[in-house]
Amino acid sequence: SKTLRLILGDQLNSNHSWFQTTDDSVTYVMMEVRSETDYTSHHIQKIVSFFSAMQNFAKELQSKNHQVIYFHLSDANNFQSFDKNLNYLIEKENFSHFEYQLPDEYRLDELLKNFCQTLVISYSTVDSEHFMSSRKELGDFFEGKKNFLMESFYHFMRKKHNVLMQGDKPLTGKWNYDDDNRKKLPKNHKPIPPLVFDNNVSEIVTEINKTNIKTIGTIDAKQFVWPTTRAQSLALLDFFVTECLSLFGSYQDAMTPNEWSLYHSRISFSMNVKLISPLEVINRAIEEWKNRPDEIAYHQLEGFVRQIIGWREYVRGIYWHKMPEFATMNYFDNQEKLPDWFWTGKTKMNCLKDSINQSLNFAYAHHIQRLMITGNFALLAGVHPDEVDAWYLGIYIDAIEWVEITNTRGMSQFADGGIVATKPYVSSAAYIDKMSHYCGSCFYKKAVKTGDKACPFNSLYWNFYDKNEDKLGKNPRIGMMYNVWHKMKPEDKVALLQQADYYLKNINDL
Ligand code: FAD
Ligand code: SF4
Repeated sequence: SKTLRLILGDQLNSNHSWFQTTDDSVTYVMMEVRSETDYTSHHIQKIVSFFSAMQNFAKELQSKNHQVIYFHLSDANNFQSFDKNLNYLIEKENFSHFEYQLPDEYRLDELLKNFCQTLVISYSTVDSEHFMSSRKELGDFFEGKKNFLMESFYHFMRKKHNVLMQGDKPLTGKWNYDDDNRKKLPKNHKPIPPLVFDNNVSEIVTEINKTNIKTIGTIDAKQFVWPTTRAQSLALLDFFVTECLSLFGSYQDAMTPNEWSLYHSRISFSMNVKLISPLEVINRAIEEWKNRPDEIAYHQLEGFVRQIIGWREYVRGIYWHKMPEFATMNYFDNQEKLPDWFWTGKTKMNCLKDSINQSLNFAYAHHIQRLMITGNFALLAGVHPDEVDAWYLGIYIDAIEWVEITNTRGMSQFADGGIVATKPYVSSAAYIDKMSHYCGSCFYKKAVKTGDKACPFNSLYWNFYDKNEDKLGKNPRIGMMYNVWHKMKPEDKVALLQQADYYLKNINDL
């Protein structure tokens, strides 16, 4: 009998039990296909990093004597979709059994399930052996509960995996150290330059250009900065724990112009394609903290561990619990288009200019830029969540639907009506100024609410609350804002709403 095993582009887990033995009757297949490059407009660096990592992974498997069939993008026999290529191979090579790892994306899960229904040969599925919770675990955990509080799921995960625990109590007695984190960068603080790679990816870039795939953003093909192998991913993780972890928590929410990475790990791509696993990531961080307790404070470590075994596992659980409905949610019934400058960075708003330009240049922005700059603006501007999702799904190196949509539609746009977040993440200029150095050199004035140079965030913020009072007015976490709004002088309210209206009508000129 002959078995065909499919490896998807985000299943590059060399520690998977599949690969622990070689077997002449087993063939692996990997494919670069147009159905994946074209389901949204991706950043060129995103396509390149996937294909490059896939090619390296295939070579690694071959060097370990596994049999691998690899479809390159412009191969003559490439039918450009998983099912067509699989059918072609199964027939041509007479495979008698088909296997795949459970995908992380709903779309591919359905596609492969349906494909298997059409097969005349036998088939089976296996786990991807990457996550620390199963698809169903979050749904089971919150069964019968009204809220899906991340914090309680995080406690459950800490206990389940015995991470930073003392018996059944959190080490140090406290679960969460966010109060010690979230500082602005000191004025003349120069963050450590990020570790970047200089991968030559010219061949892939040429192939992508030749096939006329529509992409966004820029790339330096001779010095591609992202890791494309497990060894590079581990080097990046090592750089993070040795150089950045000691300040990670403190400056996790800080933003400053022309610094694209700060103390963030930038391991989301490596983890999302499974070159490295969440368990080895947190173990490496904990080991470093144990080795250098005087240099790495516990709150820096806890903040990092929470992102990985808390947030990351949590959003995945929400995804499987709420899809496919989740992808259609639009709580505020927002209908606007994204401003054109989301694709060019050409806006006078310094915070958005910086965050968008760095996204176009590096396919990366850190969490607070995604949440409190671009996401905040899109929500205040009433942009349709489909538009917002498409942008985030395309532009970021780490964007795969399970983690993109839950963060974007859920956490950032509140389109799920409060499944992921307990209140919308919106702010005026005050918060942006508190966490960043963007406002000082901006065309707009952070403290001005109406008139010529008024910061758009200020009027759009009040306009958002006013417009959505029927949906938010009863939320206890927002009550205070409505008190402020209601107490404002009527003429001030009118001026703010008029200003917002003017900005919304001229949004492409901001
Ligand atoms: P660090 O700041 O160093 O954090 C360490 C790790 O924690 C990350 O690599 C990531 O794996 C995990 N993590 C932290 N926050 C989250 C979170 N909210 N959800 C899931 N994992 C988290 N992350 C993606 O991986 N893909 C996406 O497509 C994506 N889209 C996002 C869209 C929006 C609107 C927002 C607000 C957030 C999004 N995130 C996404 C979450 C987060 O911003 C990124 O994981 C993070 O910025 C990646 O950079 P890093 O590796 O340097 O992270
Ligand atoms: Fe952004 Fe307003 Fe600050 Fe300018 S003034 S950087 S637009 S928050």
